[in-house]
Amino acid sequence: MQKIISATTADANAILDGSLSDWAFFLDLDGTLLDLAHTPEAVVVAPGLRQTLARLDAATGGALAIVTGRSVGFAESLFPGQPLTLAGLHGAEMRLRQDHSALPEQPPPPSYAKAREMAQRAAQFLAGVLFEDKGAGFALHYRLAPDHAQAVAGIMAQAAGLAGPAYALRPGKAVVELGPADADKGRAVKALMAMPPFLGRRPFAAGDDVTDEDMFRAVNGRDGLSMLVGSQAQFSRSAALSRLEGPADFRRWLGGLVP
Ligand SMILES: [Mg+2]
Repeated sequence: MQKIISATTADANAILDGSLSDWAFFLDLDGTLLDLAHTPEAVVVAPGLRQTLARLDAATGGALAIVTGRSVGFAESLFPGQPLTLAGLHGAEMRLRQDHSALPEQPPPPSYAKAREMAQRAAQFLAGVLFEDKGAGFALHYRLAPDHAQAVAGIMAQAAGLAGPAYALRPGKAVVELGPADADKGRAVKALMAMPPFLGRRPFAAGDDVTDEDMFRAVNGRDGLSMLVGSQAQFSRSAALSRLEGPADFRRWLGGLVP
C-alpha cells in the first residue's frame, strides 16, 4: 500500500474519488476533530464543527462514526442531541445512531476496581498528573507534568498487573490508559463495517495517535483511505496513507467535503 499524499492543501474531492455516498467515515475526537487541550476536560468543539458533522452524516446516509478513547457519555456531551454513531473507549462502548441503544455494559471485576483505586491514589502524590475515570477504563494524564512520564508508566504497569489479563495498557500523547484488552479501534471499525449503513462502503479513517493505527490498518485492508493528523515524522512511522498537519487543517478539509 502506497502513501499517497502528505500535504495540507490537497483537494478533498481528489482524495476521496467517488461520491460521498460511497464512503463511511470513522473519525477520532481528540487531536483530530478537536484541538488538544492542557487537561482532558478542557477540550472545546470548534465553531462550525457540529454543522460539518451533521452535513457529513446526512451526505453519507448516517455512515459516520466517532471512534474515540473517551467514554460514549463524554462524546455525547460534546454533541448534545446530535444523532451520531459513537464508539467509545476504543470500541469497548458503542452507541448506534439508529436507535440510540448502547451495547450492554459489564460491571468491572474487583481486580479492576483495585487497580483503579491504586492508580488514583498514587497519582495524588504526583503534582500535575490527572486521573480520568472513563467507566470501563481509566487514564493518567501528564501533559501538565511531563517529568512524571516515567512515574506514570510505572504506576500504570502496576495497575495492569493488578487488573489482570482482561485489561491492557494504551499509551498515548501524554497519557497512559488501562481498559478492556479486547477493545481496539480497528475492531470497532470492523464491527461497524459489518452493519448498515456502513456495510458495503469504502471506509475512511482519521486519527492522530498510536491507538488510531489499528483503525488505519483496518481501513487500508478494506480498500479505504486512512489519514494521520500529525507531523511528517509521525507519518513516516504510521500506517496511514495520507496526512494533514493538525486538527484545524483537518476540520477545514472535512468542511470542504460538505460545503
Ligand atoms: Mg486522538
